[in-house]
Amino acid sequence: MNVPEIFGSDVFNEAVMRERLPKDTYKALKKTIADGLPLDIELANVIANAMKDWACEKGVTHYTHWFQPMTGLTAEKLDSFITPTEEGHVIMEFSGKELIKGESDASSFPSGGLRATFEARGYTAWDPTSYAFIKENTLCIPTAFCSYNGEALDKKTPLLRSMEAINKSSMRILKMFGSNAKRVIANVGAEQEYFLVDRQMYSKRKDLIFTGRSLYGAPAPKGQELEDHYFGTIKTRVAAYMKDVDEQLWRLGIYAKTKHNEVAPSQHELAPIFCTANIAVDHNQLTMEVMKRTARKHGFKCLLHEKPFAGINGSGKHNNWSLSTNTGVNLLDPGKTPAENAQFLLFLMAVIKAVNDYQDVLRASVATAGNDHRLGANEAPPAIISIFLGDELTGILDAIVNEGKYEGKRVEMEIGVDVLPHFPKDTTDRNRTSPFAFTGNKFEFRMPGSRLSVGGPITVINTIVASVLDEFADELERAGNFQVALRSLIKRTIKENSRIIFNGNGYSAEWEKEAEKRGLLNLKSTPKAVPCFCAEKNVRMFSKYGVYSETELRSRVEIILDEYCKTLNIEALTMIDMAKKDILPAAATYIRKLAETAQLAKSIGAEAEFETDLAKRISSLADQTYRKMGDLEEILEKCHKITDVEELANFYHDNVFAAMAELRASADGIESLVGAKYWPYPTYGELLFYVM
Ligand code: ADP
Ligand code: MG
Repeated sequence: MNVPEIFGSDVFNEAVMRERLPKDTYKALKKTIADGLPLDIELANVIANAMKDWACEKGVTHYTHWFQPMTGLTAEKLDSFITPTEEGHVIMEFSGKELIKGESDASSFPSGGLRATFEARGYTAWDPTSYAFIKENTLCIPTAFCSYNGEALDKKTPLLRSMEAINKSSMRILKMFGSNAKRVIANVGAEQEYFLVDRQMYSKRKDLIFTGRSLYGAPAPKGQELEDHYFGTIKTRVAAYMKDVDEQLWRLGIYAKTKHNEVAPSQHELAPIFCTANIAVDHNQLTMEVMKRTARKHGFKCLLHEKPFAGINGSGKHNNWSLSTNTGVNLLDPGKTPAENAQFLLFLMAVIKAVNDYQDVLRASVATAGNDHRLGANEAPPAIISIFLGDELTGILDAIVNEGKYEGKRVEMEIGVDVLPHFPKDTTDRNRTSPFAFTGNKFEFRMPGSRLSVGGPITVINTIVASVLDEFADELERAGNFQVALRSLIKRTIKENSRIIFNGNGYSAEWEKEAEKRGLLNLKSTPKAVPCFCAEKNVRMFSKYGVYSETELRSRVEIILDEYCKTLNIEALTMIDMAKKDILPAAATYIRKLAETAQLAKSIGAEAEFETDLAKRISSLADQTYRKMGDLEEILEKCHKITDVEELANFYHDNVFAAMAELRASADGIESLVGAKYWPYPTYGELLFYVM
């Protein structure tokens, strides 16, 4: 495989544009993108035609506006290029109009009341900062998706708005430091965790098929306790799959870089090299799609659920985030001169204050039914938001507040600090229990679940940091003496926000207590977290930047809570179905077998203690399972009477979820007693360890 040759070969990227577009068109397009202007129709016609020719040469027949509705997935509706001619033939055509804007009768996408069904049309508009690409013989145009009133119906539009916000406020700060940068860009690297299970086994489990996670399953004799899977040798069949995924991602111009086995058996990770936030989000969505599609080819099922199996780790998606200038300076990298250091500290302060002030929205941005299983489960960060800075940086901040000298490596202080030590990744990256960790020159937000679109959390991070940077800029621009004002701002910000900094073990029970003392939020479930989006301070902040209007926020809360309820409802119904149709019948068959054997054994004068005892135990567990199933059915009935979505979500959490756990416990008890050939499903042991 010649990687440089295949890399980006399915992308209408810079190189292709330069080669295929007339010089003027290319220049005009570049300028349009740089200035963030709408695309002129004449220009679009030329580009569309070049795109079509390029795509058709590669066997493409269709095009689609590829967008990211609020389901968190991607959506597409394919149109072919064919246009009839008078002689009854067809020619392949693609117009500028079709490139720029698509009409979409999208009344079936969740809109949370934003688009009443009678006004079903939404439209999609090309985001020219993200290249068009070919996927499955289709030319895909990355687009934003809006209602006719201009309200965002997707994850991309708010993200693009938030990138503009962080650009503007960062530039205000940089100007004061005399920077000659023209633009500030948010960068993202999203590490993707996933499970691979054998497709044959998967197809025998209704729970995996309907819900993406196992709703039943007694623990296997072995779990992850030997820690032998993490970074372990990759099995041949898995390696072939990974190679295939890499190749397809490279063709799509995605910088797939790192792959390895993760902590849980059958769990793996793929990390790309970071890039501009909106491209990184597009790429992560594509990565998830390619992973799923390629699994089929290799006889696997790729599980992207946040918690496919109980008792072993779930999957997350660490979001690495930083800010850089168009000149390539990373603003979260401590510098080499006192001035650079002061600038770094100010950006650091902005992140710290933003995370402290907006813990609630950060937590809300990762809330889903699936992720609730991870957060606080001693495998992922707790539901409490805090920042890990590492001892070195914390020491420096302490020294600034106390006007003392920092005792660590090579620090001379002037405006509080002079030259900060460079933080090698190793000294800062070891705390895996922190939800928001500074890792040398970027922050790593570790709460997002594996299936989540990173669009949501990144939109939040960009906007909250932009908002604090603006507060800082307001204060500093007004100040008489910049140096003095800067020093006092940094000092005050450290003091006022120190409660959010925590370098210890986030998994410990003591931290939960300590966090409560510090007044930090601990929003344990989705129904508790999500409504925070609409708190007054958050509505004010998001609408100030035009990232989300109040209506857009309300619609999002409704969509997420509604999805939460539906997810739990499907899970509960699946559990009932499995118990009724498979688990109880399996128990009955085995009990009967034991009872018959006992009678026969007794007829030859044997005691039949084993048969009798086991049959009784299983029978009693089956009775219990039957009762718990009935309880769950009754509780589900009650859901129909609740009309308020927030109340309903809380009801699902407090009652349905609890009843599901009880049903599972007794059914898993049966599984651990029933003979293998009587059990209707592949076991945890088989699912997790039998892939050779
Ligand atoms: P680890 O698992 O140790 O956190 P990985 O190599 O798996 O490290 O992932 C780190 C991710 O962070 C990669 O996607 C990498 O490209 C990304 N990254 C590195 N530097 C930056 C940066 N300045 N801004 C954003 N992301 C970054
Ligand atoms: Mg990693």
